[in-house]
Amino acid sequence: MAWTILRNGRNREGDPIDVEITEGRIVALRSASTAPMADGEVDLDGRLVLPLLVNGHAHLDKTFLGTEWQPHVPGSSVIERIKIEKRLRADLVESAGDRERLLAERMIEFGTGALRTHVDVDAALGLSGLERMLKLREDLRGLLDIQLVAFPQSGIVRDPGSYELLEEAIRLGAEVIGGIDPIGIDGDVDGHLDAVFGLADRRGAMIDIHLHAVGDDAVREYRGIITRTRALGMEGRVVLSHAFGLGALGAREQEEIFNALAELRIAIMSNGPAGLMPPVKQLAEQGVIVFAGSDNVRDAWWPFGSGDVLDVARNIACRSGFLRDEDLGLALDLATSNGACALGLPTCGPKVGEPADLLVVDAGSAAEAVANPPVGRDVMRSGEWVSRRRLHTVSGPTNRRESPAQFTSALS
Ligand SMILES: [Zn+2]
Repeated sequence: MAWTILRNGRNREGDPIDVEITEGRIVALRSASTAPMADGEVDLDGRLVLPLLVNGHAHLDKTFLGTEWQPHVPGSSVIERIKIEKRLRADLVESAGDRERLLAERMIEFGTGALRTHVDVDAALGLSGLERMLKLREDLRGLLDIQLVAFPQSGIVRDPGSYELLEEAIRLGAEVIGGIDPIGIDGDVDGHLDAVFGLADRRGAMIDIHLHAVGDDAVREYRGIITRTRALGMEGRVVLSHAFGLGALGAREQEEIFNALAELRIAIMSNGPAGLMPPVKQLAEQGVIVFAGSDNVRDAWWPFGSGDVLDVARNIACRSGFLRDEDLGLALDLATSNGACALGLPTCGPKVGEPADLLVVDAGSAAEAVANPPVGRDVMRSGEWVSRRRLHTVSGPTNRRESPAQFTSALS
């Protein structure tokens, strides 16, 4: 029977703990023993034991990672930037699968256990990106749980044929219907939202809408989404990504919209953007689920990023003025338990009886891990180490499994 005891770790409060694992599950979680180390036990040397990270919003299909540096090409509008992106990606289409895989492997090494990635679906690209991503999901099964969003980057109303492709994407295995700027892209709030919600309702899919508007346009979009979520009984199945406008509402609208988001469990995703962002702590205090995602990583939209959602949590904390340990702890929740909740996944451990999906990092508390995301990280899935950057010495027999061939390069 596969059996491991991790000794001398720390929980997120910084208290010393031991973790006992049998057949891939945590069977005991207790205060650290002072007994001498025995064969088969692993000394964590006072390091922090966390659940695996949840990266709630990414675009694997867009990244240039793995190619030579691509200088950013600016555009004067979102529509123009979509055109620029299409041109740049068309020149690199042959390496698309390798780039997507590389970024996903990096995320595993950072300690990501679950990922929601948006995949462009439009009349020009068809379902080519989705088909690659379905294969990648299968290849990485057991290492990274990937949730797919069929994302209409080019709009729905203004892109004939995209609606049918979105429906086909759900039939093929995407779990989430995406949307984007009903006013800014499609110029038709009702047309865009009726398509997204109608399709999700008919196919039993979740919804995740990119929203960048501020002011009156943002309020119209939020109200349209809230009304449809309530009417269709889609509580807990709708996400608003970015939602910059939540950071600039008048007092009356803020009360109305924040209360509705909490009541309907409409979650808010942030990547800690450069400009206006949602008021994370205020939303959380009012019961709204806020979570983190890396979003664009070195692509046509954004030259920055690594795919490390712990670094995104640091960025959000920094931009939100989170200095105290309890606020830094909230930032960690954005990249762990809140992300799991928003994506409809089981809540994060570590807990007795649950799979031993653990991230061990060079930090003494949750606050330290967020304030200074550690480089040294060891990643365990179902009781087996899938990536080790720090843990080189194990007393007694190891439980390290052979890596799948497709992941070997990332581990070397
Ligand atoms: Zn995005």
